[in-house]
Amino acid sequence: MIKLVGLCVLLAGCVIAPQPADLILTGGTVWTGSPEDEAAEAVAVRRNRIVHVGTDAKVLRYKGPATRHIELAGRLVVPGLADGHTHFIEGGLALSSVDLRPAASPAEFVRLLGEYARSLPADRWIMQGNWDHEAWPGAPLPRREWIDSVTPDNPVAVSRLDGHMLVANTLALQLAGVTRETPDPAGGTIVRDARTGEATGVLKDEARSLVWRVVPDPTDVERAAALRRAQAHALSRGVTMISDMGSWPDLFTYRRALAAGYLRLRVYAFVPLHTWERLRDYIAREGSGDARLKWGGLKGFVDGSLGSTTAWFYEPFSDEPGSSGLIVTDTSKLRAWVLGADRANLQVAVHAIGDQANDWMLDTYDWVAAHNGPRDRRFRIEHAQHLTQPAIARFAQQDVLPSMQPYHAIDDGRWAEKRIGPERIRTTYAFRSLLDADARLVFGSDWTVAPIDPLLGIYAAVTRRTIDERNPGGWVPAEKISVEEALRAYTSGGAYAAFMEAELGTIARGKRGDLVVLSQNILKIDSGRINDVQVDYTIINGEVAFKRQ
Ligand SMILES: [Zn+2]
Repeated sequence: MIKLVGLCVLLAGCVIAPQPADLILTGGTVWTGSPEDEAAEAVAVRRNRIVHVGTDAKVLRYKGPATRHIELAGRLVVPGLADGHTHFIEGGLALSSVDLRPAASPAEFVRLLGEYARSLPADRWIMQGNWDHEAWPGAPLPRREWIDSVTPDNPVAVSRLDGHMLVANTLALQLAGVTRETPDPAGGTIVRDARTGEATGVLKDEARSLVWRVVPDPTDVERAAALRRAQAHALSRGVTMISDMGSWPDLFTYRRALAAGYLRLRVYAFVPLHTWERLRDYIAREGSGDARLKWGGLKGFVDGSLGSTTAWFYEPFSDEPGSSGLIVTDTSKLRAWVLGADRANLQVAVHAIGDQANDWMLDTYDWVAAHNGPRDRRFRIEHAQHLTQPAIARFAQQDVLPSMQPYHAIDDGRWAEKRIGPERIRTTYAFRSLLDADARLVFGSDWTVAPIDPLLGIYAAVTRRTIDERNPGGWVPAEKISVEEALRAYTSGGAYAAFMEAELGTIARGKRGDLVVLSQNILKIDSGRINDVQVDYTIINGEVAFKRQ
């Protein structure tokens, strides 16, 4: 015994200092996200990887002459935040277009659009916009007559913020050849004047493509610029990784950005589900990327949205008794695509909002899994917004990931009850119930539908205070979750959903050095103040990608 102690003293005396780190952060609270060892004071990163997480004293031993040292002064460090659902390039394009979200009345909507149109050259299309008629008194849908006189020279096709309907001006409808004789396409609605039968300008879901097909595609240069804008914006919000529900041109934009050296975010780029054979062949030739940029996921749609009254429910909408929503993709095709994609080892994520859409998707995933046999497939349902009681348990049972956007709850919560009544709202954005049933939550923004801002998402999930401040105790408060639970959905949840949990999602030795420094400890402060907290640093692979000035 005495001999052993003597040996230990001798060894401790000759312990060699560890190789210096590139970056250390000390003097704060590190929320690691690991179940065993949740809190530490400091962290060290060398060559992209976390080499130590623990006490200040231990981490300071990694400080060498060239080590960058961030003194936290009590601030909180969390793992890099993953946004599980974005439309990123679209978001970058929207950042340079008109922002109609603040318009609180039709008059304001028209004024903002007119002002923007005057700043543009003639013939340039006006897109995005993200208006919200639910913010207007009486919530009337916009009409082309409102905007024709202020946009005489520019075709307009501006979207509602949920992206499921747009309003076009008369010029855009003419260019698209939409007349009163044009029939509704499958999965879409041309809204018509009740008296005259003329198109009002509003096009829902698949009807939007009538206009989109005549809009010139953004050029490669425009897409690259949009990516740079979107990336700078996301980094300033603490986002280190996105799952992007994009297109093939978007994937090529990311690949060019990576080759040119300006892709700093981690991107998991999804492409449309109906192109699964192309993706299979692409991967056979090109592989599926790496921890910076990967692909191999596919995104499809079952239905529309609640805000556009096109989500697919069992029962009709309370405020539109003639309709219970839309199926936007032919269900036999959708089932065949999921089957084929899954057999080709691709990951499938499908948008489902209404309760019937979610049940249909869970049934389809069940059938495909039984058909193709067991594998680690990580099927996802995007939004999983309105669930029947039995559906809640099925996510864990079938190992299907609910990929949800908490900001939608405090946004739609303003008016959802009017649309679906008091019964159905109880299982709407059912974060608590899903976690209690052992589902793995994945959180994101759905930017541009909602702001890309994980802190705002955490605030939403924890408080469920609607943005009109009419529900100070929370809207459907039984479904609130804790800050830790919301953080997990933005960190380890996002990593798991992208098959990257070995590299990302917690602050642990050996993992990538993706860290976010917050101005205040969101685990300690009043939850109502979480949305005032700032991101001070966003760190990816041990490199500072954003620093607040
Ligand atoms: Zn989306």
